[in-house]
Amino acid sequence: MKGLWYTEHQEAGVAISLKAKTKLHEERTDFQFLEVLDTDTFGRMLVLDGAIQTTMKDEFVYHEMISLVALNTHPHPENVLVVGGGDGGAIREIAKHPHVKKATLVEIDPAVIDASKKYFPEISCGLNDPKVEVKVEDGIKHIAESKGKYDVILVDSTDPAGPAVGLFEHGFYQGIFDALKEDGIFVAQTESPFLTENLIRGVFQDFKSIFPIAKLYLAYIPTYPSGMWSFTIGSKKYDPEAVDTAKIPDTNTRYYTPQIHKAAFALPLFVQDLLK
Ligand code: SAM
Repeated sequence: MKGLWYTEHQEAGVAISLKAKTKLHEERTDFQFLEVLDTDTFGRMLVLDGAIQTTMKDEFVYHEMISLVALNTHPHPENVLVVGGGDGGAIREIAKHPHVKKATLVEIDPAVIDASKKYFPEISCGLNDPKVEVKVEDGIKHIAESKGKYDVILVDSTDPAGPAVGLFEHGFYQGIFDALKEDGIFVAQTESPFLTENLIRGVFQDFKSIFPIAKLYLAYIPTYPSGMWSFTIGSKKYDPEAVDTAKIPDTNTRYYTPQIHKAAFALPLFVQDLLK
């Protein structure tokens, strides 16, 4: 077949390929190898160290689902932190939320923020919101220095490699518990139930040992390996499944709805088995 094909290879022996018109940008940053391609079907695509981070066509699924489940479970999510997420997609969803007064992004690699501003203005637009503060630093350091400060913390990280390894560890999750207020909520992206069973199992047990409420929910993202993606939520007080859906504000979403908020926690049996 003619044309440029971009292939992400997974350790599990699975690959995903997208046909691209052209490569718009590549650079070796201080932390990772960054590429931007213009794909035929999914539009512009951000890739870090060979792993697809986001595409214009399906980014809304991930960014709405990592943000809005926690924001709409908490009755007053005023002070919100995103660790990672330098593309700005999660921050865009948070900045739209009517209860949020302040959103902080802590991203280790400024090159990701710059590339997103240049090539993905529709995703990075929230970074310019007056409620948003952008800090270029290691999320692990930021969490260690924050105590009882945030209503909601999201870890929108790359896969557990390079600078993101420490973002999947028990000690970091304990630090997040301490950085939250007494009724705070934490969400992390936790990869694919089909390909990273051990990671999901381990992270879930860590969450359960730290947070009174720990649950996993799912969303469907075609450009992430296997398409089925998990998020793990830890909550000190509020049950994400007990939310009063009548109170969920309309923030002009394309995937998330009050019904999907509840349905996302309905897990196939093989995923339930991973959590036992
Ligand atoms: N949605 C994406 C995915 O799951 O493929 C993740 C998006 S976002 C681009 C991930 C970001 O996490 C990257 O920009 C990376 O630089 C950042 N990151 C990795 N380790 C970090 C750390 N220790 N502190 C802060 N940010 C970190």
